[in-house]
Amino acid sequence: MAAKAKTPAKKSATKSKTTAKTKTATKKKATTRKKAATQSASAADSQFRNFTPYQPKKTEQYMNEPQLAHFRSILMNWRQELMEEVDRTVHHMQDEAANFPDPADRATQEEEFSIELRTRDRERKLIKKIDQTIDRLDQEDYGYCDTCGIEIGLRRLEARPTATQCVDCKSLDEIKERQIHG
Ligand SMILES: [Zn+2]
Repeated sequence: MAAKAKTPAKKSATKSKTTAKTKTATKKKATTRKKAATQSASAADSQFRNFTPYQPKKTEQYMNEPQLAHFRSILMNWRQELMEEVDRTVHHMQDEAANFPDPADRATQEEEFSIELRTRDRERKLIKKIDQTIDRLDQEDYGYCDTCGIEIGLRRLEARPTATQCVDCKSLDEIKERQIHG
C-alpha cells in the first residue's frame, strides 16, 4: 500500500513526457513485462552456470591459488549479473510508472511492482552476501564449514558459491529450523 501513495507524485512528474508515448507504451507493455519476467528467471537460473567446473589434479591442495581464483571469478560474474538485473528492473519500473490511467490496471501494476521490489530486495541482500564471501576469499578463509571446519568441497561450492557450511551441518540446521518454526 505504500506504493500507492507514491504513485501520484511520480505520475505528475513524468506526465508531460509520457502522454505522448502512452499509446505505443501500452501496446508494448505486455511484451515488455513478459520479457522482464523471463529476464529475472534467467538471471536466477544462469547465476553460476557459465563456468567450467574445476578439475583438480590428484595431488592438488584444496583452496590453492587457482581454486581461489576460480571461485573469485564465479562470485564476481554472479555479482555483476545481479547488479545488472537490479538496474534493469529499476529502469523498467520508471518507464512504466505512469502508463496506467485505469485504477484497475494501476492496482495490477502496483502488485507487480511490489513483487519486483521484493525480488530486488532479495537480490541486494544476495549481493551483500557475495561481497562478504569475496572478503573471506581474500583472507583465504573460504571453502571450510563454519560449524565443523571440514572442507565444503568444490562441487558444493560451485552449486552454492556463498555456502558457509558443509552439506551435513546445513541439513542439520534446516531440520532444527523447521522444528522451531513448526
Ligand atoms: Zn560442517
